[in-house]
Amino acid sequence: MKPVEKSNKLDNVCYDIRGPIAHRARQMEEEGHRILKLNIGNPAPFGFAAPDDILKDVIHNLPTSQGYSDSTGIYAARVAVMQYYQQKNVRHIAIDDVFIGNGVSELIMMAMQALLNTGDEILIPSPDYPLWTAAVSLSSGNPVHYRCDEQAGWFPDIDDIKSKITANTKAIVLINPNNPTGAVYSKSLLEDVVKVAREHQLVVFSDEIYDKILYDEHQHTCIASLADDLLFVTLSGLSKNYRVAGFRAGWMVVSGNKRIAADYIDGLNILSSMRMCANVPCQSAIQTALGGYQSIDDLVVDGGRLKIQRDLAATRLNEIEGISCVTPKGAMYCFAKVDAKKFNITDDEKMIFDLLNSEKILLVHGRAFNLFEGVYFRLVFLPHSDELRPAMDRIASFFSYYKQV
Ligand code: PLP
Repeated sequence: MKPVEKSNKLDNVCYDIRGPIAHRARQMEEEGHRILKLNIGNPAPFGFAAPDDILKDVIHNLPTSQGYSDSTGIYAARVAVMQYYQQKNVRHIAIDDVFIGNGVSELIMMAMQALLNTGDEILIPSPDYPLWTAAVSLSSGNPVHYRCDEQAGWFPDIDDIKSKITANTKAIVLINPNNPTGAVYSKSLLEDVVKVAREHQLVVFSDEIYDKILYDEHQHTCIASLADDLLFVTLSGLSKNYRVAGFRAGWMVVSGNKRIAADYIDGLNILSSMRMCANVPCQSAIQTALGGYQSIDDLVVDGGRLKIQRDLAATRLNEIEGISCVTPKGAMYCFAKVDAKKFNITDDEKMIFDLLNSEKILLVHGRAFNLFEGVYFRLVFLPHSDELRPAMDRIASFFSYYKQV
């Protein structure tokens, strides 16, 4: 028989957060090693319990959730999402503008597949959450990366964005709060993005899955609230703000100038119906989550568990000679720069591999986030301080002797 090979469509598709190094970590676990996995933003295994109301809701609704739902989602969830964005000052949203999905991941794929023809270009931040780049490639589009400027707190570089726009550019993607950098964009930066999008007629996709995980200023601006004349697609879900990543519950809201987008919205509806619907028992949790007590707020204020861990991780990283990290203002990651010369590093993936072998800690290298200049790594600061502190000691110890050969 001929070898069975993966499709050419996957040639440029890459998702290294769960890539070869994570695979090696799993093997090491099978060999009996205890690996501290700081590679994935998955709150539950680190003891972040979901709000009780959400769990009760799913249990309560389970017996009546056995059938498919409407393909765009159950009514109660869609109303709750609509009202959430109305409260965030997004105008003119109707229930039909809301699509419920099996997590934001599924909706990113649908959003790109419904939009792109071969050769269409999408502006994506570098560094990015790599699913965006992968989804564009898999949908026959060309991801074009714009620079986020570390010196400017990792804000997007507007001039770089402008310089990368061509006749084929269809849309710009923002991730705000950002994964991996933790940047939270100011209203004035978002207004600048709106101006560029308006000038070049770009659709704006905004991934706001961390919009409640804010450490310093507790105000998040949804870019879709800033204009009515552009098309916006805003995505978020329960995985991070409500710590139930395993429920696979997310949403996407189309807003702004929907008149120009009837055909695209039709495409979204086709793709939604092809996968029947999102998992139904967990859709019911969306209304309860958005309408209930926002326990995430207690975790991110002064003295809150996540904020304490953010401070600990960022401070300790900056104390290591040869490492620096812009303190993240949101999300659950530190994105640290490594002095390549000092450690003789030519391969960031090897650095992460070496750290795994010697310290049994799993991080993700910067290139996995489509950042190809400099050496970086991303660290998830979800473990309790008691576990995070010794982990930071081990990382510091690794960089006290490390030289890449
Ligand atoms: N978008 C960003 C920026 C993320 O960091 C993640 C997960 O880490 C996702 C989307 C995927 O989220 P979901 O669990 O809703 O699929």
